[in-house]
Amino acid sequence: MIADEALAGKPLVRIARMLNEHVIPSPRGGLRQVGSLSQLPRAPAFAGLLPETETVWDTRLGRRKYTSVVRPYRDPETGRPVAVGEGIVSIVSIEEQQRIVAEIESRTQVRGDGVKRPVRSPAHLLTGLLRCAVEGCGARMSRNGASYVCQGVRLGHTCPGARAMAVRVEEAVVNAFLARNPGVATLWQRSDVLRRRALLTAAADRIRVTRAEGRGYRFDAAKRPRIVWVQDGSPG
Ligand SMILES: [Zn+2]
Repeated sequence: MIADEALAGKPLVRIARMLNEHVIPSPRGGLRQVGSLSQLPRAPAFAGLLPETETVWDTRLGRRKYTSVVRPYRDPETGRPVAVGEGIVSIVSIEEQQRIVAEIESRTQVRGDGVKRPVRSPAHLLTGLLRCAVEGCGARMSRNGASYVCQGVRLGHTCPGARAMAVRVEEAVVNAFLARNPGVATLWQRSDVLRRRALLTAAADRIRVTRAEGRGYRFDAAKRPRIVWVQDGSPG
């Protein structure tokens, strides 16, 4: 998925955001895939460098064996890493790779025993994904009680503040997402909220929520969330 994003020329912030979603473990632990995905940006090939797997001498086996450490291969003549130009590689420069890794590092904290743990992210499905669609606002909406609320007011803007019942807006977004991606329905069912957030983050470029027409109106799933999907760039 990340390779796809990079190949499609998605901005790196977006890829980094996706990676941030992926390095967060499920509350029950597990998700092996998470570890390997978070390792990907550290791989030399991600920055277009020829990788080399480090080996160590195994005295018991009497031969060299591969370790899990992968580093850029250095040309013995020049001492410099060797650039390769296939697939994902030529898209991300070394500097950009370092930025992405730094972005991920900033979201991890070191535990007492020295093991790095990702910082937990909010557990609500749409926190950070919803934006207020009131003209000139565009502030994030965050969960407040049973609703997602425009943060513009708190940030000192003059926005009247879009606000939506969490259950309703989540249902509308999920229905739209699964209607477009019927293949992931089973995965969705099996996933926890953090994994679901990752799936939505990868699929939706922007989810804006318009203001309700008035108090007491029934939430209109067809009108209030305006979703711009990654693939087509058109409102869905
Ligand atoms: Zn607003």
